[in-house]
Amino acid sequence: MPSAVMLNGTLCAPEQATISVLDRGFLYGDSVYEVIRTYGGVPFELGRHLQRLDESARRIGMALPCDVATIEAEVWGAHEATRNPESYLRVVCTRGSGEISLDPAVARDPQRIVIAQALNAPPQVVYEEGVRVALVGVRRNLKAAIDPQAKTGNYLNSVLAFGEARRGGFYEAIMLDHRDLVTEGASSNVFAVFGSTLVTPPLEAGILKGVTRTVVTEVASQGGLQVLNLPLTESALLSADEVFITSSIREIVPVVAIGETEIGREPGPIYREVRRLFGAYVKTYIANHYVAPRP
Ligand code: PMP
Repeated sequence: MPSAVMLNGTLCAPEQATISVLDRGFLYGDSVYEVIRTYGGVPFELGRHLQRLDESARRIGMALPCDVATIEAEVWGAHEATRNPESYLRVVCTRGSGEISLDPAVARDPQRIVIAQALNAPPQVVYEEGVRVALVGVRRNLKAAIDPQAKTGNYLNSVLAFGEARRGGFYEAIMLDHRDLVTEGASSNVFAVFGSTLVTPPLEAGILKGVTRTVVTEVASQGGLQVLNLPLTESALLSADEVFITSSIREIVPVVAIGETEIGREPGPIYREVRRLFGAYVKTYIANHYVAPRP
């Protein structure tokens, strides 16, 4: 399946899309990014993703290299160039390059990249049987260190947590903060279900404001379920009736065990209801945002 790269507005073959070794995205992770998927060829919630990209840039005192509307057109263009029915889309904006120095003020030539690849969604068994996740030893970054609300190229915190989970044979890492409160997954948000109430940690817990988290909150609330943003302790999470994780690529994935603790033998009724509501929302979204590909 072909891939396409849009580098500073120009389509190129992936092997020809090159960035300087002096770029600060490479040297320091001094960049911001987004990951988006398409449904029916429509980049899902592109507006919210690009708004978060802009906010991430602001949070690290970086100007985006161009306006958001330009990036929006480039995301569609990269997807269409692949001719794949569905794409995984990654947008990266770096602060640029210059003299090798920590000083952000020396940065010139900010780079923007859109990578489009064939979507590789999780296999059906993940949704039917659920997954096992691990509470890992690696702690979430302090908000006052690198705020997890900024989606930056500096992802080592998540890389280390995910590596720890994978070495133990787990699907995803759930990270605690320095006070032992639950934050989020290495690349997902977490929801715990008590009765018919959904609880997910608040943004102040030091988490990414996941687009899927926001959509799930909206559709669940509209569907008559209560959704609360509350601090979640490890023991509360382990005693939940149901747990699921959310992210753009994996959507909503039911969790049936956290470490050695079972959370229900199979995906629960609230998960199934939320998934149904989410699926209906996606259908409406596609219908409202479909644009016929250019010939
Ligand atoms: N938290 C982290 C740390 C992530 O990397 C991701 C994936 N972008 C998420 C949560 C889920 O966010 P979204 O639903 O916007 O993909």
